[in-house]
Amino acid sequence: MKDQRFFCDEMLQRLGRWLRAAGYDTLIASAGADDRELVAQACAESRWLLTRDRHMAEFRNGGGCVVLLAQNTLPGVVAEVSERFAIDWSVKPFSRCLECNTPVIPATEAQRSLLPEGALRLSEQAWYCPHCDKLYWEGSHVRRMRHTLENFACGVWVVAED
Ligand SMILES: [Zn+2]
Repeated sequence: MKDQRFFCDEMLQRLGRWLRAAGYDTLIASAGADDRELVAQACAESRWLLTRDRHMAEFRNGGGCVVLLAQNTLPGVVAEVSERFAIDWSVKPFSRCLECNTPVIPATEAQRSLLPEGALRLSEQAWYCPHCDKLYWEGSHVRRMRHTLENFACGVWVVAED
């Protein structure tokens, strides 16, 4: 995995979730967050702050960590970020919690027993986020997301679902 870490501003939440789905360490700004604080945090944590906000990109204290994206659509920004950072969409999919970015761990047998009836017939795999106390499994939603990541990895910027 490339050592790239990201911070998506509030306008780029969906991009942020796809970067997380691919396994990239990605924070997403909460609504109404202060722009200067975002820039400061991104720089302090060696993250690329991705934004479409020209004002944010113009901060003098950006320290070179603010990246202004030009595209306006989700497929557009996915393509733009892919090219700019040589993103590998297939490198470590579903290794982070989509909600909070924490690395997930394999679910225990006890946790797997909590899955909805039928879920385990679909899947051998289940993961757990210790921060959110959330379980993920290889259900239809994850399979559709996996398919989209495979498209991205091939340079096909089609989002089936997110
Ligand atoms: Zn989580």
